[in-house]
Amino acid sequence: MRSPIIAGNWKMNKTVDEAVEFVDQIKNDLPDPKVQETILAAPTIALVPMVKATAGTPLKITAENCYYKDAGAYTGETSPTSLYSAGVHHVILGHSERRQLFNETDELINLKVHAALDAGLCPIVCCDDTMGRRVAGKKVHWVVSRILADLKDLKPENVNKVVIAYEPSWAIGTGESMDPAEAEEGCYLIRQTIADMYGEETADQMRILYGGSVNTQNVNKLMASQDIDGILAGGASLDPVTFLKLVNH
Ligand code: 13P
Repeated sequence: MRSPIIAGNWKMNKTVDEAVEFVDQIKNDLPDPKVQETILAAPTIALVPMVKATAGTPLKITAENCYYKDAGAYTGETSPTSLYSAGVHHVILGHSERRQLFNETDELINLKVHAALDAGLCPIVCCDDTMGRRVAGKKVHWVVSRILADLKDLKPENVNKVVIAYEPSWAIGTGESMDPAEAEEGCYLIRQTIADMYGEETADQMRILYGGSVNTQNVNKLMASQDIDGILAGGASLDPVTFLKLVNH
């Protein structure tokens, strides 16, 4: 039985004060993490104050990126070890904005996934889908090749710490979500790919989220799909009342 995840990704939004105010508003209204996990990804500068503000609550504070080295001359980067030691649980890797705007490749993302796992973090690996939904055959290949490359050569004991987020890029920030049946198809394909790489049992345990214009209207239908274990919301995670509606859908 896979426990569901409701995750928010703030991207480059909110000041530190706004971030702390937000988590103070929601932290006492969250479900038992054994029943459903609640995850919030925030800009690096807000992570430590958010971790402090939510100590002892079910909210898992999450980074939006990290580098693949532990320390050294990498100006401007954040190491996975420093995130973990600060109380950060997860890290989003391979978001389509990082791939498109910052030229991140599958090779780089694979290095980051390995480094994050070695440091104790759970990576949320985003697989975008730039092919567009109408060329279904190609779309499927795109997602499968991403998974094969991004999750290459993981230690078997680490694979189930990974969470995958299926995020068609045309659905991100557009208000046009993917049809739940199509989203289910994409997540099913990802699960089959994991089964080919790491076996059926591992694939059965892997949590796969859908992201792309998730809102309070479509969350229930998405969450009802067999292979969709949760959602990763961008815009809808920015308002505490709306985020709580997603969490308590
Ligand atoms: P939106 O929910 O704003 O479409 O963003 C999705 C996303 O990119 C989550 O990582």
